[in-house]
Amino acid sequence: MSRPGHIYLDYNATAPVRPGVAEAVAAALAEGGNPSSVHAAGRAARRRVEDAREAVARLAGADPAGVVFTSGGTEANALALRGTGRPRALVSAVEHDSVLAARTDATAIPVDGEGCLDLEALRRLLGADGSDAVVSVMLANNETGVIQPVAEAAAIAHEAGALVHVDAVQAAGRLPLDRAAAGADMLTLSAHKLGGPMGTGALVLGPGLEIAALVAGGGQERRRRAGTENVPGIAGFGVAAALAEADLAEDGRIAGLRDRLEGLLVAYAPDATIFGRSVARIANTTCIAMPGVASETQVMALDLAGFAVSAGAACSSGKVGASHVLAAMGVAAPLAGAAIRISLGRATTGEEIERFAEAWRSLYDRTRTRAA
Ligand code: PLP
Repeated sequence: MSRPGHIYLDYNATAPVRPGVAEAVAAALAEGGNPSSVHAAGRAARRRVEDAREAVARLAGADPAGVVFTSGGTEANALALRGTGRPRALVSAVEHDSVLAARTDATAIPVDGEGCLDLEALRRLLGADGSDAVVSVMLANNETGVIQPVAEAAAIAHEAGALVHVDAVQAAGRLPLDRAAAGADMLTLSAHKLGGPMGTGALVLGPGLEIAALVAGGGQERRRRAGTENVPGIAGFGVAAALAEADLAEDGRIAGLRDRLEGLLVAYAPDATIFGRSVARIANTTCIAMPGVASETQVMALDLAGFAVSAGAACSSGKVGASHVLAAMGVAAPLAGAAIRISLGRATTGEEIERFAEAWRSLYDRTRTRAA
């Protein structure tokens, strides 16, 4: 990530590793040992896994016994949506692709023009008896940063007897997390969004909730996820989770930078649109459209100018498809196709924001001149 001369503004895609994470990964690799082995090497590996489990549980405000380590947020979402065996799934229309793809039979819960969940629609779609259903609502959206009324949605779902899953991948380290207060029977985390290693995550379960493993094999993770644990990844996740709490203290500073950035861009380009600007968002995320200029053109031009940002929906494949998030918010396709996501983080400075605004304005001017 430390590409000389480049400014990284794509923290929602992945965050630079925290100090101590690479060292913890390297130490676990060097030490080796299978956590299921009873000898000393195995017990040392087990200790690393259990220490990390405690750190992740603390981050989620949860009991360590409920933490199931997975290969990332994608697998945790699949485990949550499929593992409960509930025949009906209701998921917000703006969920990450990993939720939408986990249950292609799911009913979409609509959102309003700002991207906030329609709670009345949830109530209606669930019906009086939701005991056959699992409901999935993310805490913060990866493209717009919009924060969902998760506790309210969970109260409605629980009243009808449904189980609740919350994808907190983009919220961790950016909002205080408390599994029970959020009403989450299941909560998803991903290490690399917190400055941990890629390919590691967790599904955090409430007490007493049992789920069926997606793959059969050994009895690891209390039979909820077979396969030898990714000890180095989990050890790095533990370090990142322990440090994430401190990130909350950075929130005010990052929100100030984000507001400054949005102010600069909109003052210069009155036709620019910022999505979800009038509702609660996590502090680091801006999704902004430069009308008439395709998202991928902007991303490439800004890359050439030395800035890493992304085209809202493109974080998984590098290819840019239409954003289902903006479509669900009722944004017309041409405007949605002109949106980029800028996501800030711990290392972002005021100077970087000024330089980015300058590059964005220069691109804006070039494209207007051409259009004229
Ligand atoms: N959920 C959300 C909201 C995300 O933003 C992402 C990653 O972009 C994921 C899930 C998937 O996490 P992972 O990359 O660990 O599979």
